Amino acid sequence: MSDLYIHNSLSSKKEKFIPINKDLIGLYVCGPTVYSDVHLGNCRTFTSFDIVYRYLQYIGYKVRYVRNITDAGHLDGDADIGTEDKMAKTAKALKLEPMEVAHHYTVGFHKMMELFNNLPPNIEPRATGHITEQIEMVQDILENGYGYEVNGSVYFNVQKFAEENDVYGKLSGRVIDDLLSETRDLKNQGEKRHSADFAIWIKADEHTLQRWNSPWGEGFPGWHLECSAMSTKYLGSRFDIHGGGEDLKFPHHENEIAQNCGACNVVPVNYWMHGNMLLLNGRKMSKTPDPITGISNSIMPQDLFSGKNEFFSKAYSPMVLRFFMLQAHYRSTLDLSDEALLAAEKGYYRLMEANHRLQDLVHTGEENIHENENEQIEKMIQAAIDDMNDDFNTPKALSRLFVLVNKINSIHTNQINISSIKEETFNKLKKVFNDFIFDIFGLKDETQSTDESTAHVLDGLMDLIINIRQDARTTKNWGTSDQIRDKLNELKIKLKDSKDGTSWTIEK
Ligand code: AMP
Ligand code: ZN
Repeated sequence: MSDLYIHNSLSSKKEKFIPINKDLIGLYVCGPTVYSDVHLGNCRTFTSFDIVYRYLQYIGYKVRYVRNITDAGHLDGDADIGTEDKMAKTAKALKLEPMEVAHHYTVGFHKMMELFNNLPPNIEPRATGHITEQIEMVQDILENGYGYEVNGSVYFNVQKFAEENDVYGKLSGRVIDDLLSETRDLKNQGEKRHSADFAIWIKADEHTLQRWNSPWGEGFPGWHLECSAMSTKYLGSRFDIHGGGEDLKFPHHENEIAQNCGACNVVPVNYWMHGNMLLLNGRKMSKTPDPITGISNSIMPQDLFSGKNEFFSKAYSPMVLRFFMLQAHYRSTLDLSDEALLAAEKGYYRLMEANHRLQDLVHTGEENIHENENEQIEKMIQAAIDDMNDDFNTPKALSRLFVLVNKINSIHTNQINISSIKEETFNKLKKVFNDFIFDIFGLKDETQSTDESTAHVLDGLMDLIINIRQDARTTKNWGTSDQIRDKLNELKIKLKDSKDGTSWTIEK
């Protein structure tokens, strides 16, 4: 097994993956803020990390995958003071308890993840369920001298931390002197000593809905704190991989590192991974309305699945969306367009059809082995695995599978004689091709009817129709055989005659 390389955002380099404990990998991914339904951009990030989780397991690692639910402390505009809490805003607008809002959107999020066939994490901790741990972390930060309290709120002292630790700004590439020089701009600084400081505990005011007792009075935790506290609790103060969308690098992840170091004196994460943004009309997909036009640039997955939206010509299924996402590397931006989705739809069905053909083929014994074909098949299988080992390069691996699709189709039509392929190579192709589609890429087969009895009835009816057509042809009853063919064509059912009989497929 070749080595796995991961692009580490901390060093901006691909690095060989060396786990802290090879028997259990720690993977933490920032989850959704459950104040509204997830949009397709969120789904892309979670799908990218689902592939990471799947592949780590495929190559034999046991993984503890922690993905949190943010249900407190995330303020509007990702600010740390001065704006309203996202949860509270929705709760007030809908006249609901914040917990009702959180529950409703968490259920919706789970349903959406299931539609995309994303595996559930092993632990899904909520910010509101870990207030004690967050308060303890604030206390540790204060004890280590990296925090200060002002009037019931606690701030992280970035200046002091940066002076004493060569860590702050490394992940996001921010120049610490620039950040600190902003301290001269005292506007919007409020109680902070320096503008680069950030709140880790925020005093509740009369409008605050979610509030907890703390040594500093009633308040709530800062947004960045939950991920520091919950990753430490479930994965330890140092763990392997932390992921999230590119937009979380600063301030969220930079501040997470500062808090972890500030509380535990340990740099928390070995490999930071960031997924790039899904774009719509060339701009980042986001629910936040544009400040000038007031229009938000996002599409909800369910509107894409139903086809009821202003952007696209037709409905696309969840697996077509997943396939579309696989066609781009997770570190590249990906632009959603009708042409790209149409192409993805074709590609998805071609891949599935090839796999059906492959799984139906039976090797009947070796004869006149074609060394060149064998070598090409072996090479493509290995190349696809190497691509995944090269920072989870799904588009490249997918392109190798399509070289194999051509081979499979040639075997299916007898252009390549199955007996000229070594049995061992053929069986490997059968297994690895299937593994890639289902275990690594996490695609589901939408071409098969989920209702087995319906599929069974359909198979029986098609056999009957094909037999009637065959009888009509034998008796030169062209009227009937043409009528059958035309009607099937209308229904997009294509018949294919070969020396082994007639097969049928539904055209997409
Ligand atoms: P949020 O619920 O806003 O905290 O976001 C949940 C996750 O989705 C985070 O990892 C974000 O970085 C990610 N995300 C937000 N917008 C996009 C986008 N347009 N494309 C890809 N990921 C996104
Ligand atoms: Zn986070």
